[in-house]
Amino acid sequence: MITIKSQREIEIMRRAGHITGKALAAAGAAVRPGVTTMELNDIAHRVIVKAGARPSFLGYNKFPASVCVSVNDELIHGIPGRRKLAEGDIVSIDVGAYLNGYHGDSAATFAVGRISDEARLLIENTRLCFFKAAERARRGLRVSDISRTIQQTAENAGYGVVKKWTGHGIGRALHEAPDIPCFTERARGALLSEGMTLAIEPMLSAGSGDVDVADDNTTVITVDRKLCAHYEHTVLVTRDGYELLTYIEGLSV
Ligand code: MG
Ligand code: MG
Repeated sequence: MITIKSQREIEIMRRAGHITGKALAAAGAAVRPGVTTMELNDIAHRVIVKAGARPSFLGYNKFPASVCVSVNDELIHGIPGRRKLAEGDIVSIDVGAYLNGYHGDSAATFAVGRISDEARLLIENTRLCFFKAAERARRGLRVSDISRTIQQTAENAGYGVVKKWTGHGIGRALHEAPDIPCFTERARGALLSEGMTLAIEPMLSAGSGDVDVADDNTTVITVDRKLCAHYEHTVLVTRDGYELLTYIEGLSV
C-alpha cells in the first residue's frame, strides 16, 4: 500500500530530509585522495546525531555503519572501512536520517581529485537522469513515467541501468511501496498523487548494468567491473508539482 503523508508528517519529513541532505553534503565535501571511507561515514554520522536524528542505515538489515560508501565498480551498500580513496576514484555516498518516526534518503557520487572524462560523464548523466525523472513525479502521472524517463535518459547516453535494485516509497519505513525501478517494468505503474514521498534513485553503469553481491555479502558490484554511479533524493509529490526534501540549495551537488 502506498501511504499518503499528512501535512504534519510532511513537515517532519522536511526536517529529516534537511538533515539527510546536510550530512551527505558534509561527507561529500570531505572527499579527497587519502581520506578513508570510514572517515566519510563518521562525518555524516556526526551531522545526523548532532541534529537529533539517527542514521537510518545503522543496523538496517544488519548493516554495520551509518552510511554506505561505494567506490568505482561498487554501486551501493559499500561498508565503510580503512580503504583510502585514491586520485581518480569515484565514490558513491548514500545517507539516511531518521527523525521523529520518519526517514530521509539521499545519495550522490563524488569525484576523488581529478577523474577521467568517462567517469565525469557517468556522474553527470546519473544526476541528469534524476532531475529529468523528478520532473515526472507529478500528480496524475505514474511510477512508470519516472522509470521510463530514467531508462531512456540513461540508455540514450549509452549507459546501462541497474535492474536488480530500485528506488522506493519512503516515510515511517525506509523502504515503502511503491518500488521505483530504473527501467520500465510495467507499461502502467502506480498512479502518483499529492502527499506521496518517493526516493527516486537512478543507478547507472558504464557497462551492462548487471550487478552482483561482493564477497562481503553486502556490497553490490557491477558484474563486468565497470564504473557505476548513483544519485538519489527524497521527493514529495505536491498539489502542483514536486518538492525535493533532501536537496539543499547551495549545498547539495
Ligand atoms: Mg539511499
Ligand atoms: Mg533509497
